[in-house]
Amino acid sequence: MTDDMRPGRRNFLAAGGGLAAATLAAPVLSQQPGSPFLITSATDVLLPKGKAQRVVICGGGWGGLNAAKQLRLLAPQLEVVLLERNPVFFSCPMSNKWLVDVVDTNYLTHEYLAVSEKYGYRFIQTEILAVERDRKRVVTAAGSLDYDFLILSPGIRYNYEAWFGNDRRAAEATRARFPAAYVPSAEHFRLKQAIHDFKGGELVMTLPPPPQRCPPSPYERACLIAWLFKTKKIKGHITILDHKDAIRPIGYGFKQAFEELYKDQITYVPNAHVKELDPFNKRIKTAAGDFNFDHGIFMAPHQAGDLAWKAGAVGRNPEGKPTGWAAVDPLFLHLKDDKDVYVIGDAVGLVSPQFLFYPKAGHVANRHAKIVAKYIAERVAGREPKYILPDNLCYMMVTADPQLDIAVQFDYKVGPFQDKGDVILQTQIDDNERRPELVHEDFGWAKNMYEDMFA
Ligand SMILES: Cc1cc2nc3c(=O)[nH]c(=O)nc-3n(C[C@H](O)[C@H](O)[C@H](O)COP(=O)(O)OP(=O)(O)OC[C@H]3O[C@@H](n4cnc5c(N)ncnc54)[C@H](O)[C@@H]3O)c2cc1C
Repeated sequence: MTDDMRPGRRNFLAAGGGLAAATLAAPVLSQQPGSPFLITSATDVLLPKGKAQRVVICGGGWGGLNAAKQLRLLAPQLEVVLLERNPVFFSCPMSNKWLVDVVDTNYLTHEYLAVSEKYGYRFIQTEILAVERDRKRVVTAAGSLDYDFLILSPGIRYNYEAWFGNDRRAAEATRARFPAAYVPSAEHFRLKQAIHDFKGGELVMTLPPPPQRCPPSPYERACLIAWLFKTKKIKGHITILDHKDAIRPIGYGFKQAFEELYKDQITYVPNAHVKELDPFNKRIKTAAGDFNFDHGIFMAPHQAGDLAWKAGAVGRNPEGKPTGWAAVDPLFLHLKDDKDVYVIGDAVGLVSPQFLFYPKAGHVANRHAKIVAKYIAERVAGREPKYILPDNLCYMMVTADPQLDIAVQFDYKVGPFQDKGDVILQTQIDDNERRPELVHEDFGWAKNMYEDMFA
């Protein structure tokens, strides 16, 4: 080691001298055009494209995370980039149990980077601003990137416009004070605080019209909040205002739970189409009557996430109005007008004249992701993909002590339907008898699902 390399006061001074020199040089450097390359803007190229074909996945939720991992397993020659706005994954499935402390926050949250490194896809935390399909380019807050294949898994948005028109003040007040907590966000924490702080009174819950994200989960939420009120001896009452004419799915199982476990805590009101909601004076008018409330969980109608709209993926009905959901080929899940853009998960639109939409469930998003990864892998290998159909399985807890679940299963096949020829057909089996074995299966299901995304 030479004297100059040895650490010591002289070298620190020298380093200080160097620093001073750099500081002196700074004004000269700052005259150079541009910023440091890691400070990016939407107009920069985020990732230059190399020789490998690139799949960009928009949305790192249940669909996107599975798609990224599966693509790397099935087609390692592809470059895979996953874009997601949230720094941490927060699971909506199992979150009703978290609301009443059956599971803790660690159970629902996962970090993104270890799994992306393990499977060799790139995870970038950024807001996706636009999808320029004509240029095969995604624009994000951190720059833009080109794709060969695009997978959109943006989840849902709340259509507050259906209730409030252009009244943004009322929409924002409703979202902030009485959040639905149906997208992974701060809303869940606000809702949890509100129900744990509830001192008694009327809690009103509206259910969106179909198609909606996870149709049985609002009933599960009502049961578990009622269980909390009962256990903590809070004089709270829950009114479920359902747009539908009856509880679906697992209707009998939930009805029994309401009547046998929560007779004093839950009132179920069908056909309660929302006509007017006043978040300031805490009043709601519906087709089934008017109600005052102390707190509310207001689920505005659901639609495909904003990104599906920005990508021009949302279909139109025969009158030319947006359907609210992505217009996909029912079997192959690519956009009807763009074979290189796939949509998976909740944003998927009409797929069958028999049952209309796949259940908007994490389980289905998981299956869609695997299916679409297989389709893309087949295509890059020069083979014509054969269609694959998903399945769906869902467990719902109706009481937390003792823990008891009910469940529903859906299966799909292609077959003839009325005069429509061959279409996708659905069979549904409700398991209405609440019992502890289903709780065991529920947690096993969640473990498998989390492992698919993060292990
Ligand atoms: C209370 C509740 C309970 C549920 N229980 C179950 C259950 O028991 N079983 C089940 O199967 N399903 C359940 N679900 C449904 C499940 O959560 C969804 O079906 C699933 O998350 C859909 O996956 P997805 O990938 O389509 O959307 P998401 O998982 O919501 O992922 C979409 C992602 O895209 C990101 N994103 C969107 N726009 C942008 C943008 N512009 N820029 C960057 N990122 C963006 C979002 O941040 C999000 O992470 C439940 C849902 C709720 C709310």
